[in-house]
Amino acid sequence: MKNQFTENHRAALLEQMANEAYDLLIIGGGITGAGVALDAVTRGLKVALVEMQDFASGTSGRSTKLVHGGLRYLKQFEINMVKEIGRERAIVYGNGPHVTTSEWMLLPFHKGGTFGAFTTSIGLTVYDFLARVKKSERHTMLSAHETLIKEPLLKKEGLKGGGYYVEYRTDDARLTIEVVKAAVNHGAHVINYTKSESFIYDDDSKVIGVHVRDVQSNKEYDIFAKKIVNATGPWVDQVRDQDHSKNNKQLQLTKGIHLVFDQSIFPLKQAVYFDTQDKRMVFAIPRDGKTYIGTTDTFYDGDTAHPKMLSSERDYVLNAIHYMFPEVKMTEEDIESSWVGVRPLIYEQGKDPSEISRKDEIWEGDSGLITIAGGKLTGYRKMAEDVVNLVSKALSATNDTTYKPCQTMHLPISGGEDIGDSDQYQIFVDQKSKEAMNFGLSEEEGRVLASKYGTNVDQLFQYAKEYQELKENELTSVIYAQLMYAIEQEMVVKPVDFFIRRTGSVFFNRSWAIQWKEAVINKMADIFDWTPEQTTEYTAELEKEIEDAVTPVDE
Ligand SMILES: Cc1cc2nc3c(=O)[nH]c(=O)nc-3n(C[C@H](O)[C@H](O)[C@H](O)COP(=O)(O)OP(=O)(O)OC[C@H]3O[C@@H](n4cnc5c(N)ncnc54)[C@H](O)[C@@H]3O)c2cc1C
Repeated sequence: MKNQFTENHRAALLEQMANEAYDLLIIGGGITGAGVALDAVTRGLKVALVEMQDFASGTSGRSTKLVHGGLRYLKQFEINMVKEIGRERAIVYGNGPHVTTSEWMLLPFHKGGTFGAFTTSIGLTVYDFLARVKKSERHTMLSAHETLIKEPLLKKEGLKGGGYYVEYRTDDARLTIEVVKAAVNHGAHVINYTKSESFIYDDDSKVIGVHVRDVQSNKEYDIFAKKIVNATGPWVDQVRDQDHSKNNKQLQLTKGIHLVFDQSIFPLKQAVYFDTQDKRMVFAIPRDGKTYIGTTDTFYDGDTAHPKMLSSERDYVLNAIHYMFPEVKMTEEDIESSWVGVRPLIYEQGKDPSEISRKDEIWEGDSGLITIAGGKLTGYRKMAEDVVNLVSKALSATNDTTYKPCQTMHLPISGGEDIGDSDQYQIFVDQKSKEAMNFGLSEEEGRVLASKYGTNVDQLFQYAKEYQELKENELTSVIYAQLMYAIEQEMVVKPVDFFIRRTGSVFFNRSWAIQWKEAVINKMADIFDWTPEQTTEYTAELEKEIEDAVTPVDE
């Protein structure tokens, strides 16, 4: 069951990467870099990717977790963007139904709000058309009474009705890791905790490699490639600085926070997209016994790697809840968790954060460094296609090789293989939850694992069985299965990788993270042979993340 996408193989993998000559090296292991790696390797390019933290620990693990067409961009007349990413929703869903779920969204309208019945109806009709929404998922319009039946917690005063339409909910970090794993399965060499620190040039000042540092061991390596793509999200300008290729275009970072509540505090039945007190649009979404809500949108020039929630941002979201759901009584004490993300948007003079376009652009420096900037999680596959079109064209011109056209339109990501039509997914989950009982798991445990890991669930079942044979009792079979799968198949390096990005528990099941952290860390320390100092350091790092999730900083 062991493969090479593991922490224990990182040193050997880096040695190998330093001895290869790649067609393409990607810097950045968020959704953009992962998508480029998968697209390129399936066209026949020899591909490497380096990520300086864990995969998806930048913006791609801190979004609103929606695969959506961006209804609100219609208001800004971004027709092409809505059309393109709206259509991508169905593709992302089809290729990975285990990480994407369709979610009916309620758009209530109140007297004096941004949208009325007419504008909502027009907007949703245009959206259905542009995004080629399938018949069963096209919008309907609801009366005030019907709207309240869908979500009784909504503000009743001035309620005039609602639009009802479909978006897709995802687990952004797991989506990213499944795309990374698909790229690895197709032959890409991908490594985390490896920072690109400087570029290597030929005599014509063309970039031919990067000097990287394994941030775990501090060892340094040179990796060579014919083409290099900078897919570092909020860090793209820093990387372009290293290449001295910052042109007149640059990023504008904006920050967004989300709060998480237990359903006992905020018992939202239905996903809602609503107007806040200052007429910004905010999502409130029920998920796995919790409700999460966000986001804010403010200019940001602080620490990109560790953005923190301010108490004013927390209060803004709390006020938004009280404004639209007046019967929900909660205080800051009720916040169960939160996360903060930084949007890598392309600077537009004189625009407010929410007005800046979410479109993507590709920039090529004099050295030949290709940078992909801006964009949305939802559009990652199409962005990758555009980047790799450029790369393969440039490579074909110099080495007389023709590469395949883009393959990713109907290419399952890891865990999405062999399910057939995405409609078959429920049948698959039902079948797997029954099979789980052959591995000593309950039907419900099987259902949870199959829903999360898709067709990779068979490997988790094997790990669960292995745990029962070990006759240990520090963990449970399910936790052992998730942990061993993350260690042996998903390059988990530190406890934070497991508790934040592989399981999402720091955000959505904080008490579980607190309950199991010690036992999980002990197991990891045993497997990775950590020194007591390493164990202490990694424990402190995880505990800080758990604490930061409920503690804002003051301005
Ligand atoms: C609050 C918020 C809500 C959002 N909601 C949605 C949504 O619901 N739906 C949607 O479609 N989009 C959403 N987005 C946008 C979406 O999340 C981003 O567009 C997307 O995640 C960007 O991915 P990326 O890979 O470009 O950047 P990142 O995910 O940040 O990845 C860049 C990676 O590069 C690495 N890196 C940086 N420098 C180096 C280096 N020198 N060497 C090696 N690695 C390096 C970083 O560690 C990082 O992991 C949201 C964004 C925010 C902030």
